[in-house]
Amino acid sequence: MGMCPLCNGFAHLNAVCQECESTMENKGREAEYYDDYSPYMPIDEMKLEDGYLNNYENGECPHLFQCSQCGYYQVIMIKE
Ligand SMILES: [Zn+2]
Ligand SMILES: [Zn+2]
Repeated sequence: MGMCPLCNGFAHLNAVCQECESTMENKGREAEYYDDYSPYMPIDEMKLEDGYLNNYENGECPHLFQCSQCGYYQVIMIKE
């Protein structure tokens, strides 16, 4: 188990949507999100997921943030 401040509730990150500048919501850890939706994932995102394995080794925790207004999402790496 890592010590990601977001996973452990120590910190709250306010991310701003690059598209419409609305507040983005923390959807949780990227890995957990993929567990639910991976059967429907596009191939390009599968490749991205492989890349995240390196980040896990670096002690970074990928969090998925999604805009509540336009649905734009991005993954932000949280240093554990
Ligand atoms: Zn985390
Ligand atoms: Zn947006």
